[in-house]
Amino acid sequence: MTLPIKSSICNYCITKHGGIGAAQTKPECFNVNRARLCRNHLAKCPNFREYVDNEEVQRILALSVPEDKKKCKKSSDDDNNEENNISKR
Ligand SMILES: [Zn+2]
Repeated sequence: MTLPIKSSICNYCITKHGGIGAAQTKPECFNVNRARLCRNHLAKCPNFREYVDNEEVQRILALSVPEDKKKCKKSSDDDNNEENNISKR
């Protein structure tokens, strides 16, 4: 089974509700496909905490997400260009 679009549904919500189709009908399970927002969801997702040990929950939530620092930049190429310009000076 392949998904037509890249999944932006919380895996734990999918498991909880028995399928991606069911999870898609629940706004609280649906994430914009960004790691930062996904983590925000996990922080309050009861299903995530249900399926994952509390210790693991804390570890995952403590992970730094690269997108947090990029301020929603879509292209990493821009960052590379900026770095190149700085290094030339
Ligand atoms: Zn969830």
